[in-house]
Order: sequence, then structure tokens, then C-alpha cells
Amino acid sequence: MLKNSRLRNSIQVVFTLFVLYIGLKFVQFVNNYTSGQSPVLSRPAGVEGFLPISALVSLRAWLYTGVFDKIHPAGLVIFLAVLLISFLFKKSFCSWLCPIGTTSEGLAKAGEFFFGRTFHIPKFLDYPLRSLKYILFFFFFSSVFLIMSGPAAVGFINTPYNMIADVKMLQFFQNLSGTALLIVGLLAVLSLLFENFWCRYLCPYGALLGLVSILSPWKISRRRETCIKCGACTRACPNRIAVDKAQRVRSPECTGCLNCVNACPVPDTLRFTTPLAKLYLTPRKAAIAVLGAWLLIIAAAKLSGHWQTEITPQTYQALIPHAADFTH
Ligand code: SF4
Ligand code: SF4
Repeated sequence: MLKNSRLRNSIQVVFTLFVLYIGLKFVQFVNNYTSGQSPVLSRPAGVEGFLPISALVSLRAWLYTGVFDKIHPAGLVIFLAVLLISFLFKKSFCSWLCPIGTTSEGLAKAGEFFFGRTFHIPKFLDYPLRSLKYILFFFFFSSVFLIMSGPAAVGFINTPYNMIADVKMLQFFQNLSGTALLIVGLLAVLSLLFENFWCRYLCPYGALLGLVSILSPWKISRRRETCIKCGACTRACPNRIAVDKAQRVRSPECTGCLNCVNACPVPDTLRFTTPLAKLYLTPRKAAIAVLGAWLLIIAAAKLSGHWQTEITPQTYQALIPHAADFTH
């Protein structure tokens, strides 16, 4: 039997490997079109999970027209699935499934191995730095929902640029400029030194999920009567939340990782629970809930025809070899 923290880590690793597999299939798909080989391979729709801005525009267009995106439907489904999971179970997508979160955690563990510890940014800098991700989120949100009109969102979805936004993204990472390499390298070093650096300070997606998670019915709750105030929960929290001082953890930084629950030495003192029904999730049940919700939503989208793009192989053939020409 896996220990509880290992259960989460195992799910993270399996999910990340699956995402890498999708990435490899997508590389083959694109290579097929650029090299003119046949037969043409099918495109893994899950790659659209890496197009959150396109998904935000899709959502804008869907709210405007009532028509679900036919260009990147999987991107919008994944975006909505992540929002729903965050609404129900705090930001558990970040700590159980997100490959960037997994990479971030892995780098922090490597940092601990090399330096014997990770470091904390002082509080007077921590607060303003944490606000950066909200500023970035507000920038994207206002660009799409306040500045862009409904017709403009619909127009954007059908541009050649958006149709092959996944191809453009792949080519961006395959041909990283010196500046981009420097930024990625700097982020990697900062993630080695400071736990969850990207997620804590810069991820606009995480900022949105944190705001949604404030409404979550499931939260970490501490029973004061049985708590021995040992502080193990606070020390185990990767997001520096003072769990031992809270009765209910309402922080938008909580990722529902349940490290605090695993660390608590007194049974039933810390629980991932709802306030009314006293429904609580053990780490094992939380794994089933998060993964189950994810798989159910994806299966429902596939069965109801909201997963595969309507872009034809002929359109891909016309666009992909000339991807560099489409700049917006
Ligand atoms: S350790 Fe507990 S409080 Fe901290 S992020 Fe994980 S679940 Fe939330
Ligand atoms: S680990 Fe458990 S007993 Fe210790 S302070 Fe936290 S809630 Fe209380």
C-alpha cells in the first residue's frame, strides 16, 4: 500500500508522463505535415490544455453566442474542468495533476538535495511578489472580458493563428530564443531555491484557480479540542500557510495537497471537510475525487462530441507548413 503522500506524488508523475506522451504524439503530428509524409497521423486533442488564453477567449465567445468552441473544444473542456475541480476541492488541480506544479515540486526536492534545504523569501517581499500572479491574471482577464468584444472573440477563434496556436506554441519551445532560454533557466534556478516559485508568484492560471477556490465547500479544518499545537501541519505546508493557527484554511494559496493532514500526529484533528454535511475526504478519497472528476468530465466531453476539433486535415495541410507566417 502506498503511503498517502506517495499516492499524490505517484498520480503527479503518471499524469506528467501522460502529458509528455501527448506532447510526443503532437510533435509527430506536426512533423507529418511539415515533411509531407503520409498517412496523416491523428492529433491528440489533449494538447489544447496548453492553450489557456485561447480557452479564455473561447469562454468569452461561448458566453456571447451560446455556441461551444469547435476549433479547440478540448481546450475549453479542460479549462472548465480545472475551474470546476478548483471550485470543489480547492486548488487541487495544481498539486495533484498540473505538470508544471509537478516539475516545480521536483525542482524544489532537487534543491533540497543539493543545498540541504529550500529558502524562504522574506515576508515583506513575499506579499508583493504573490500579487504578481493576480496582476498577470487581471491583465489577461481584462484583455479578454473587458477590452475584447464578443464578436471580436468569435472572430479570433476562427483566425488561422488560433487554429494552429498549438503548433505555434510547439515551434516556440522548439526554437527558444536566447532571452527565452535565459528566462526559463532563471525560473528553474529560482524553483530550486524557493519552493513553488512559479506557482506561488507568477502563474496567472493558479491566481484564477485560487480566486475560484475561495468558494470551495471542501477546506482544511482543524479541531481545536484535539490539536496539541505541535506545528507539524504548518511546517509541512508547501505554501507557508499557518495551518496550526486556523480553524478553517480559507487561503487562496491552499492547493489541497493534504501534506498537513498527512503530517498531523493526532488522528481526525485535521481534515479536508465541508462545514455543513461533515463530509470529509481522506487523502485516498481526495485522490479518487480529483482524478474521478477529471476523468468523468473528459469522458463526458468525448461522448457528447465536445472534444475533437472540426479542423480538417486539408486545412491543417494548408496552414501548418506556413505556421511562421501567421503572427496574430
Ligand atoms: S499543506 Fe494543507 S494548508 Fe497547505 S496547501 Fe496543502 S492542503 Fe493546503
Ligand atoms: S499537526 Fe495536528 S496537532 Fe499539530 S498543530 Fe497541526 S493540527 Fe494541531
